[in-house]
Amino acid sequence: MGSDCVFCKIVDGRIPAKRIAEDELYLCFADLNAQAPTHVLLVPKQHIASLAEIAPEQTELLGYLMAKAAEVAREAGLAKGYRVVINTGVDGGQTVDHLHLHLLGGRAMHWPPG
Ligand code: AMP
Ligand code: ZN
Repeated sequence: MGSDCVFCKIVDGRIPAKRIAEDELYLCFADLNAQAPTHVLLVPKQHIASLAEIAPEQTELLGYLMAKAAEVAREAGLAKGYRVVINTGVDGGQTVDHLHLHLLGGRAMHWPPG
């Protein structure tokens, strides 16, 4: 399913990435085009196309990814705060069709987002 998916390729090592943290369920790696001093992505190792595709039995995995984002933020020293974003679908600005959480920090974020 994910053989053509760029994030599946990163998960299984076919495309290099700066790996920050991982376990059997998720991988956290640096975003290639950083929008903040800290900008990493957290992805499930399993291919899920987007937040809109989450099945009821995957809600625990979603919570796990959120908790891991907080853990990575703590380890990155983002004590002043950070933002977690899940762009979803065309209007959401999603460009890679493998569910991912953006963790952004190290500067003040703006609201509303663009
Ligand atoms: P989104 O627009 O929410 O789908 O975010 C996709 C993100 O993936 C963007 O911030 C890209 O910079 C990032 N990205 C795309 N390809 C790679 C890659 N090979 N390694 C790291 N980050 C990537
Ligand atoms: Zn994938």
